[in-house]
Amino acid sequence: MSYQIAIDGPAGAGKSTIARKLAKQKGFIYVDTGAMYRAMAYYFLKKEVSPDDIPSIEKRCMEADITIGYENGEQVVYLNGENVNGVIRTEEVGNMTSSWVSKNPGVRERLTALQKELARTHDVVMDGRDIGTCVLPHADVKVYLTASAAVRAKRRYDELTAKGVACDIRQIEEDIVLRDKQDMNREIAPLKQAADAVLVDSSDMTIDEVVTAISNLCRGES
Ligand code: C5P
Repeated sequence: MSYQIAIDGPAGAGKSTIARKLAKQKGFIYVDTGAMYRAMAYYFLKKEVSPDDIPSIEKRCMEADITIGYENGEQVVYLNGENVNGVIRTEEVGNMTSSWVSKNPGVRERLTALQKELARTHDVVMDGRDIGTCVLPHADVKVYLTASAAVRAKRRYDELTAKGVACDIRQIEEDIVLRDKQDMNREIAPLKQAADAVLVDSSDMTIDEVVTAISNLCRGES
């Protein structure tokens, strides 16, 4: 049996940084499910699929072969064989993903099946929005990782300014609040804390403190 650690939470709570670190520490694979949804959105963007064109969404969704690989220990998302890591992190792709792509039942069905299969065959740390509730309802450890919107915005602001990107912290916070709303209020697989998930508020915690707190929840791990 594989060992499964599920980490859900809103945008900017630090899930990917923490999940990646924890996976490295445990020797598990890290699966960033948000990257898979973003890859699908990127494909729709390239093919100029519009949100109300259901037949086209269905067709393009089936054409998009989204797989996960690992290069130098880092997760790589392939879209029809092409490494799309470098193009899925734009605001345009992010907004499109949360505003309509991730609400589509066909998209969710396809990506959820892929995620379940990865977790069946590997020990995983998987992060996303619906991992503890839908993808891995029997995960060994479930965490709902959150932080206040102001803290999440400040972290994102620091990240962007460190890269030399000019940005407005108020705008970032507004985008974060909007994304939370979209993810929490959609009909299928909304973002919510699973009944058996442990709530971790990282607002006043360092990355290492969060990793240690989650690691301490892993009992009986092989
Ligand atoms: O985690 P990240 O911010 O990259 O995710 C982008 C978007 O993908 C989220 O805002 C959400 O709409 C969607 N997503 C999802 N279910 C997941 C992971 C991400 O709906 N398991």
